[in-house]
Amino acid sequence: MLDVKARNNKIKASRKATKERRQTQSCRVVTCKIDQSKLSATQREALRRMFLEAKWFVNSIIASDDLFQYEIKGNTVPVRCKDERDEWILEDRPIIALSRQMEQGLLQECKDAIHAMKAKRDKAIKEGRKPPKLGRLKYRKEVAEIPLKQFGKTYRFAGPDTVRIQNVPGKLHLEGASRLNPDHDTDRSLTVRLDALLGFENKPVEYANAKLLHREDGYYLAVTTYEDTDQYEARRNARESILHHTPADGSKLGIDAGQTDQLTLSNGETVNEYVPESLRLKKAARQFARRSKYSSGWWDALHVLRLEYLKEARQRKALADQAFHDLHAKAATLYVQDEQISKWKRKTSQARGSRKIQHGILGRLYAKFKQDEHTIMLDQWQPTTAWCPRCGRRTKHPPGRETYRCAYCDYTARRDPHAAGNMIILSWRPLTRQELYQDRSIPVGPYGSI
Ligand SMILES: [Zn+2]
Repeated sequence: MLDVKARNNKIKASRKATKERRQTQSCRVVTCKIDQSKLSATQREALRRMFLEAKWFVNSIIASDDLFQYEIKGNTVPVRCKDERDEWILEDRPIIALSRQMEQGLLQECKDAIHAMKAKRDKAIKEGRKPPKLGRLKYRKEVAEIPLKQFGKTYRFAGPDTVRIQNVPGKLHLEGASRLNPDHDTDRSLTVRLDALLGFENKPVEYANAKLLHREDGYYLAVTTYEDTDQYEARRNARESILHHTPADGSKLGIDAGQTDQLTLSNGETVNEYVPESLRLKKAARQFARRSKYSSGWWDALHVLRLEYLKEARQRKALADQAFHDLHAKAATLYVQDEQISKWKRKTSQARGSRKIQHGILGRLYAKFKQDEHTIMLDQWQPTTAWCPRCGRRTKHPPGRETYRCAYCDYTARRDPHAAGNMIILSWRPLTRQELYQDRSIPVGPYGSI
């Protein structure tokens, strides 16, 4: 009895210490691809089997009457399948690749999903909305994530770029593992410059739980890391200033997302980046539409289609990252307007160029703007196009016209750079609600600078 009590106290104390430490740490999830070319045949089979067993296991949880009473026991799991006479039976299949801790993790995720559904319903009831139906969890056709709960046990690092996963023989090689631990940065010169800039004692990065992911193009390891917040930010800022040679403080750039050009800058430049829909994607979509649902050809076609979508998404992400980087190389502070790109997508209006937006980078780019502390975002109600920076009056502007002409004074300008410039001026002093309700012919806002 005493032993149990002592052990529980020890666990409690260590939990408390971790909780206190976490308050000064930043949490980050780093995803690394597992190098497919270095997988042995047995490793490949172990991973394939692990995800198959995970599907069986999760479906057996869902099939149970009450998953909160579900007990993990034995080394088999009942799987519903057809026998030789084409009748449904339950067959006990052995669990070989999935470890007990992985099972516990999967069970916990099912419980969390139920809790989330309940919370959603309670919130709806509280707010007087119609509550969503509380269904049971749906049976899974595939399981794409396996939780690895305990660092050091379910998974551990075997070297700077290798990992061991419970029940998978040997080491797995990770791509881009230097992001997991900046001390292992392969770019030596950058590390040296960073060390010189930081100049304080290095606190080690801590690893918490992880997830093994199965995506269309292979396996990934997503690791939750904790690093001292001050250290993480110093490192990030130092890295940014080296990589992006930050321009002079005080330089400004307004950015207008538009109709003819994707982006127009307040200095008159334009940015247009599209990933054209590839012929391969079109072909994959056609093939997929032809198959009958859930046939083996359907699954194959789905795989090919998803792979093509993934490729396109990656290209778009790379372009958006590059564009963001380029914009910040031009000016220290960016000014944009919350244009709600996602709403444009839903509209089929040709004026907004919806098709272009779908294959463009605006959605991703604006998501980056939102998180960037050096981007100032105006709310969507500010009349960046209609407002005249010379006289402060507003002139309604038809969407097709390229030139802005103030109806009250002699100010004219190309529409998009005019709007982008107004973002800088109006962010300094946005129009108030009262000003917006006034007649357009009454001068409002910080006009007169042009
Ligand atoms: Zn005017």
